[in-house]
Amino acid sequence: MRIIDELKDAKTIALGGHIRPDGDCVGSVMGLYLYLKKEMPAAEIDVYLSKPAEIFNCIAHIEDVKSEFNTDKIYDAFIVLDCSEERLGEATPIYRKARKKINIDHHVSNPGSGDVSVVEPKRSSTAELLYEMMNPDLIDEEIATALYIGIVHDTGVMRYSNTSPRTLQIVAELIKFGFDFSKIVEETFFEKTYLQTQIMGRAVLESVRFLGDRCIVSMVSRRMMDFYRVTPKDLDGIVNHLQSVKGVDCAIFMYETGTLEYKVSMRSNGKVDVASIAMKFGGGGHVRAAGCTMNGTYHDNINNLSIEIAEQLSHTD
Ligand code: 5GP
Ligand code: MN
Repeated sequence: MRIIDELKDAKTIALGGHIRPDGDCVGSVMGLYLYLKKEMPAAEIDVYLSKPAEIFNCIAHIEDVKSEFNTDKIYDAFIVLDCSEERLGEATPIYRKARKKINIDHHVSNPGSGDVSVVEPKRSSTAELLYEMMNPDLIDEEIATALYIGIVHDTGVMRYSNTSPRTLQIVAELIKFGFDFSKIVEETFFEKTYLQTQIMGRAVLESVRFLGDRCIVSMVSRRMMDFYRVTPKDLDGIVNHLQSVKGVDCAIFMYETGTLEYKVSMRSNGKVDVASIAMKFGGGGHVRAAGCTMNGTYHDNINNLSIEIAEQLSHTD
């Protein structure tokens, strides 16, 4: 399916993605925005996202993103990328009012929440899926950069198992545009501020292994975040770091979002299906990377998750 086929009569279009937007979310939303501005120059196109991290300022026209969601506007089409309706946050009412709802995603936990839904869990990223829905002749350096960032972030720089031969073919097409991909990978994916590195160190230091050292967990409290002067955006990457410990099949990282409320991130090497566990607690994601929000004390949450993980591990060697 070409995206344009679904937008033929649309004069006003909105694009949106999930709360706490990650690289794939920002990259795919901005890639599609830049693309549609070229393919449909007469259309009015608005982008709604909660404020992206500063590392994404290298994406062209990122300043066009609207992070104020108060509008009475009824759009001809609203395209939700990289999530289902539930994770749109404050943009949900705008989506619900739209004349046509389109949902493009790659999360196995997304049943599809549009009048038109394209959900392909085998795709590495929403950015990869979007590339297939675009006319390649219209892709330029700015669009390619945005899509490249999406793919890089969701594949951990083309090394997670969601990377397919097709992913790499698309990456090859994208880097032909000549942008400085090495700098983009360094500055958006690997580089951390000193404070981000410090809080990661603290989280690693305080981590605990359980279930015969096959699981690892750590937590950052609000007090710790205040002390290191960091926000949730600064905690990206901690859970991946925990998962890279030898012998660990499943890593859990939580940070406190409110009184007895934690945002939970999980990673696995494939032996545990963390998407199914996250879904049991109202979240979702992929088999090897998923998340949810949990209420209760830190230890209660670990206990509840560990019951599910132990159940799954008991079926493996
Ligand atoms: P992360 O741990 O990096 O926040 O997220 C890992 C994966 O799980 C991402 O694909 C993300 O979109 C998904 N995910 C994280 N938290 C939630 C959640 O609360 N609900 C759903 N449906 N997906 C989530
Ligand atoms: Mn994604």
